[in-house]
Amino acid sequence: METKLQFINGEWVPALSKEVREIINPFNQEVIATAAEGNENDAKKAIKAARKAFNQGDWPNTPASERSAIVMKIADFIKRDREELARLESLDTGKTVEESRGDMDDIAGVFRYYAELADKDGGELIDTPLPNSNSKVVKVPVGVCGQITPWNYPLLQASWKLAPALAAGNTLVMKPSEITPLTTVKVFELMEEAGVPNGVVNLVLGAGNTAGAELSSNTDVDLISFTGGIQTGKKIMQAASVNVKNLALELGGKNPNVIFADADFDTAVDQALNGVYFHAGQICSAGTRLIVEDKIHDEFVDALVKRVANIRLGSGFDDNTQMGPLISAEHLNKVMNYVEDGRKEGATIAVGGKQPEDPALQDGFFYLPTVLTNCTTDMSVVQNEGFGPVITVEKFSTEEEAINLANDSIYGLAGGVWTSDIAKAERCVAKMRMGTVWINDFNLYFPHAPWGGFKQSGIGRELGKPGLEEYQETKHIFHNLAPEPINWF
Ligand code: NAD
Repeated sequence: METKLQFINGEWVPALSKEVREIINPFNQEVIATAAEGNENDAKKAIKAARKAFNQGDWPNTPASERSAIVMKIADFIKRDREELARLESLDTGKTVEESRGDMDDIAGVFRYYAELADKDGGELIDTPLPNSNSKVVKVPVGVCGQITPWNYPLLQASWKLAPALAAGNTLVMKPSEITPLTTVKVFELMEEAGVPNGVVNLVLGAGNTAGAELSSNTDVDLISFTGGIQTGKKIMQAASVNVKNLALELGGKNPNVIFADADFDTAVDQALNGVYFHAGQICSAGTRLIVEDKIHDEFVDALVKRVANIRLGSGFDDNTQMGPLISAEHLNKVMNYVEDGRKEGATIAVGGKQPEDPALQDGFFYLPTVLTNCTTDMSVVQNEGFGPVITVEKFSTEEEAINLANDSIYGLAGGVWTSDIAKAERCVAKMRMGTVWINDFNLYFPHAPWGGFKQSGIGRELGKPGLEEYQETKHIFHNLAPEPINWF
């Protein structure tokens, strides 16, 4: 079996220690690949290459239009290799190939968007307090960027970091999740093919507490951009303080989906499912916290449970499958304990709440789509991110109560409101403390809309113009055209 290698300074290299890791298909636990298992030493080597390419290479000063052309080529190659990439992503994560195809379209769109944005930012002239002078504000690259990504949307999350960092003229070292590196490796091949100069993009494979920790603590790294869990985010924030790195954190969410009685009932039920059960609920913005108006609560739960009970589990490569497995045995265990805690706290398991009995699914990390009712805000299942196919349902009777419930969380990534009353919808979303709020929709995102969290869901934004600005420093250049002595001293 071919071992997937790291990409450092334009060369494909094994781990310095020569260690490898097996990559597992979560549907049947087959080994689908082996990958170099880098550690802090590989990360150090990659950071050195990125530092050299930034300080001595041409990339930061290459005209933005030339950088754009390369980023656009990467988008084209992703489109060209869409099917191969989609199948690889499904093999590695268990999600349906149809979902992965959608991811690849979004990923190509992200590269295209930043290619188009990068050459439009030529800086601006501002007013000065002196005659015979001018003041320019320009954007320059931040420097060497460390980028750490999770396993749930491996290449999508990588694209939100790679495309703007490259377009803005930075050099970078990426470390994907050690359990899902395959599509990221492939995209580094595409970046090489597109002509990104040596040392500009570097890939280190391996575990978080070795290779990842080095990226967040190494003083040659100027910016660390991390997507992952809240506890890891806190560690990275601490480590990054060593040289006051620029910091971008995209962390978790327990995202409220508020359903008023005057909402279009059938659409709200349907979209409540879409909001959660794609990729078995392993989505940072999944609408796993349903908050339903008491007048329709019972009817809504009945309709939801009927639909949930019919969700078809299976291989991501089977056209019939609607939901694949969870990512790993460890994660399955976490989700089982999460539901068990909810049950102990008094939540009712309306459907699901266990592993499926179908013999065909016994080798995979499957968990039945689950709805927990009779939930209250103080329960751990309502407060914590389950990151699985599990919805909690709470009730409210007034608009104010709905907003208070929705905001009663340490998280603030995303939320939704369903109602036919436009004014009520606007009042609610104005008060909801989240980075993205949807009215009569859930989970829609696109490259030009910024993405990120309030509160402990993160710091900074990806996507949109703010997603490019994360990778730029703002520099003010003042030019005195008629300098003369002041004679103060
Ligand atoms: P994780 O925090 O366990 O791991 C994420 C990455 O961090 C991996 O590459 C891992 O190797 C690395 N890592 C682990 N320990 C590290 C350390 N000490 N130093 C540096 N790096 C380290 O998260 P996960 O389980 O892979 O992903 C799931 C989490 O990601 C969920 O909480 C989810 O909400 C979040 N997420 C957020 C967004 C968003 O946009 N806000 C998107 C996707 C996922």
